[in-house]
Amino acid sequence: MTDPSMSLAEIFRRLIRTNGPISLSRFMGESNARYYAGKDPIGAGGDFVTAPEISQMFGELIGLWLADMWIKAGRPDPVLYVELGPGRGTLARDVLRSAKRYGLVPAVHLVEGSPALREIQQATLGNITFHDDLTGVPTHAPMLLVANEFFDALPVRQLVRAAHGWRERMVGLDGEKFAFVAGDQPMDAAVPRDWRKASQGTLIETCPGAAAVMQEIAGRLAAQGGAALLIDYGHTELRGGSTLQAVQGHRKVDPLAMPGQADLTAHVDFETLARIARSHDVRWMGTVPQGRWLTALGIDMRAEALARMAPDYAVRLQQDKNRLIADDQMGLLFKVMGLAGPGWPGGSGFDHT
Ligand code: SAH
Repeated sequence: MTDPSMSLAEIFRRLIRTNGPISLSRFMGESNARYYAGKDPIGAGGDFVTAPEISQMFGELIGLWLADMWIKAGRPDPVLYVELGPGRGTLARDVLRSAKRYGLVPAVHLVEGSPALREIQQATLGNITFHDDLTGVPTHAPMLLVANEFFDALPVRQLVRAAHGWRERMVGLDGEKFAFVAGDQPMDAAVPRDWRKASQGTLIETCPGAAAVMQEIAGRLAAQGGAALLIDYGHTELRGGSTLQAVQGHRKVDPLAMPGQADLTAHVDFETLARIARSHDVRWMGTVPQGRWLTALGIDMRAEALARMAPDYAVRLQQDKNRLIADDQMGLLFKVMGLAGPGWPGGSGFDHT
């Protein structure tokens, strides 16, 4: 644990001066732990806005999807609702309200690292159980798992093809400022096979933390049954290049400039996550753009129904819907990956069901 009275930038500077450069993955992991621990960064007054904070329709349609899966699976009881990185608890609230209309009332287990956000989630949701990670979540019942913008916050490793092989991208110091430097340890073993022979200068990102969480989810779906929706921005095939970014006050800022004070994220590599899921006895339904998935689930009809109930908000509802599904907004960049345990049905909105 780091000393909370000292700025993280100061801690990193001391560490680097004493021991040399630190890995980007460590820089990002400790930055985000500090960033989320003390505050609620989500919403208009914070640093960034997420889909559930844009519109209740997002969580309602996810609740509908989960309830549909559960009904087709024969309404198993007990059943768990598990959410990773629930933010303000808004998504869980909308999911659970919508699921309840179909008779689905699961036990709620939240995986949340931030004490500040736990407090808000508790106030919003009431009877819930918190976990630091998935390992403590019960194993006796099927699990309906949702993660929205969770994987993008997990620390990435950046690997660069140098003259004589692959090296890790590290963070060192240029005077007082943090700067990228190449590590001196060979990292070829950490590079996916297809990429090992890439040309000099190629950079790829891997996320060992995401791979570990995916292993755990897939193992549980195979053993406990259930279904999972992973929603995040990212790509369906691993690509070269850095996607690391930092956001503060709704603006992009230098990712190395203010550790612990800006949200650091990277695109999610859905190709690797899907490969891990498929190496277990798990049905991979597909990874589809968020806009297409929400449209297939009936977001247009839901927006019209809400507009009939609240005509004053009709224009606003259209705008919010547009933010979630339009190609130039969240519709294309964000992807939805669907998974289910053996014997569980295919879910709506995916191509491969
Ligand atoms: N899903 C929410 C919040 C996204 S922000 C929404 O859509 O609004 C990322 C969330 O993941 C926050 O709740 C943050 O505290 C949590 N988080 C980030 N890294 C984590 C980690 N390593 N372990 C547990 N929770 C983490």
